[in-house]
Amino acid sequence: TDPAVIRNFCIIAHIDHGKSTLADRMLQTTGVVSDRDMRAQYLDRMDIERERGITIKSQAVRMPWSVAGTDYCLNMIDTPGHVDFTYEVSRSLAACEGALLLVDAAQGIEAQTLANLYLAMENDLAIIPVLNKIDLPAADPDKYAQELANLIGGSPEDVLRVSGKTGVGVEALLNRVTELVPPPVGDPNAPARAMIFDSVYDAYRGVVTYVRMIDGSLSPREKIQMMSTRAVHELLEIGVSSPEPRPSQGLSVGEVGYLITGVKDVRQSKVGDTVTTSNKPATEALPGYTDPKPMVFSGLYPIDGSDYPILREALDKLKLSDAALNYEPETSVALGFGFRVGFLGLLHLEIITERLRREFDLDLIATAPSVIYEVMTDDKKVAIVTNPSEFPGGKIASVREPVVKAAVLAPKDYVGTIMELCQSRRGNLLGMEYLGEDRVELRYSIPLGEIVFDFFDHLKSRTQGYASLDYEPMGDQEADLVKVDILLQGEQVDAFSAIVHRDKAYAYGVLMTERLKNLIPRQQFEVPIQAAIGARIIARESIRAIRKDVLAKCYGGDISRKRKLLEKQKEGKKRMKMVGRVEVPQEAFIAALSGD
Ligand code: GDP
Ligand code: MG
Repeated sequence: TDPAVIRNFCIIAHIDHGKSTLADRMLQTTGVVSDRDMRAQYLDRMDIERERGITIKSQAVRMPWSVAGTDYCLNMIDTPGHVDFTYEVSRSLAACEGALLLVDAAQGIEAQTLANLYLAMENDLAIIPVLNKIDLPAADPDKYAQELANLIGGSPEDVLRVSGKTGVGVEALLNRVTELVPPPVGDPNAPARAMIFDSVYDAYRGVVTYVRMIDGSLSPREKIQMMSTRAVHELLEIGVSSPEPRPSQGLSVGEVGYLITGVKDVRQSKVGDTVTTSNKPATEALPGYTDPKPMVFSGLYPIDGSDYPILREALDKLKLSDAALNYEPETSVALGFGFRVGFLGLLHLEIITERLRREFDLDLIATAPSVIYEVMTDDKKVAIVTNPSEFPGGKIASVREPVVKAAVLAPKDYVGTIMELCQSRRGNLLGMEYLGEDRVELRYSIPLGEIVFDFFDHLKSRTQGYASLDYEPMGDQEADLVKVDILLQGEQVDAFSAIVHRDKAYAYGVLMTERLKNLIPRQQFEVPIQAAIGARIIARESIRAIRKDVLAKCYGGDISRKRKLLEKQKEGKKRMKMVGRVEVPQEAFIAALSGD
């Protein structure tokens, strides 16, 4: 294809502003999906994506579009909008020359609208502002067109108005893309360089790698080389998605398509890497490859200990399609055998645990999410701690914690509430700006450890759902953090250890000891429950002793009922975990960790 008629663009938006729905209408309007085959969120292929209405993986589609006698080739890349997947968003952007900045005409600009816009500007993309959902009765396109014009410059009249639902304005939008998005430029005679912007695992085809050709070309059966690892693979199939995969005779400058090599693991074909050929390799990789770094860690334990091998297998399987997933075996006194799993963020954590439950039928306990701490002891040894129970004992010289730059957008009436919440989470106000008359952006630096601890839930509930949040890493800082242990009859229960700021240690201790007091049944002896920092006890409760006698309730008589009760008790015992001499039902751990 002649690069002059290629237009590569993506759609960027805050979650729920209608990217996937608009993508559907474009597929229909350009005729690549017939009305009969159309289904909602056509490109969201995973069950979880469809049910939750969110996009997790990017998708690319090639669509023909003719304007005034010229046949264009449009490549649309639908991106995930969520903070956890920012790296994927930024790789998708790097594969494009233009971006549709989509904004819900009833909501206006939100936190991820800004975050994505900044990413697009860093990649020098032509930006086309679009108001979506103009069919909604609550839509106020005049107001938000002005808001968008203020943000990106230009006049409100330049803002397109569409409805992904009804299809209104979609043709005009496609025409605008051909006008405003520049054609790709690259050297057709140079050694091949293709950027990987997505890599997915397919049970039938193995890993499918989505690329954008920058220089040169690739053709079927060529030997390709990954520039980061130097690994060479044979190209079994090369093609384009339209939106179903269609093998082609190759990819040339500016084209977007897929490669299949028979590798079985997405780590061998990483997002951001450069693909070249092994007989005429490029010397310099394209910029932008970074390994996704896990930011949030949690221990995952099967409720039924015999499920451990299934959990291991399930994680191995998910890893094939998720290069960002990290895990290693871990054992807990309280919870048995499990894994410490690293995630990109909270949504990533939620998606993985949900897939484990659903696709592998596993019942799991997840420990409270933790971040990475760098702990230096007095003898200058540095420990990297992702599990609070591994916090070093003895004298601590310093603790460093990750910090994020958070942007919160909300109507101005909520400014006070939001400031209060952010301050209670050790946030520092960096700046505040009005986006229009009544909407404000607040920028904070906040420890990530405070955000993973139900920050988003509090933000939503205190603002009636009106606030939106986006954050990005901004390094780390020293903080006065301590480990609080929870002890049952003097024995530490590792799953409940937490790393918290010294000012919040007491509150955490009181909360957990009270919670456990209510959850753990009385035993034959008194059981003290304590919270401690090192050897110092900071909170204490106790469970009084009883003489447990199940048969006492039965008033003699009914023998079969007695037997049933005894059996029931035996069964219940199997689900008990011993912490020292104390029997704790597994349910108590689950309830204490889930916090309700
Ligand atoms: P995404 O998260 O940006 O991909 O958003 P979706 O395409 O999944 O849309 C989010 C929600 O908005 C869904 O319930 C859609 O049905 C709805 N929606 C999307 N576009 C429109 C539109 O133009 N009009 C109306 N009324 N609803 C829309
Ligand atoms: Mg979507």
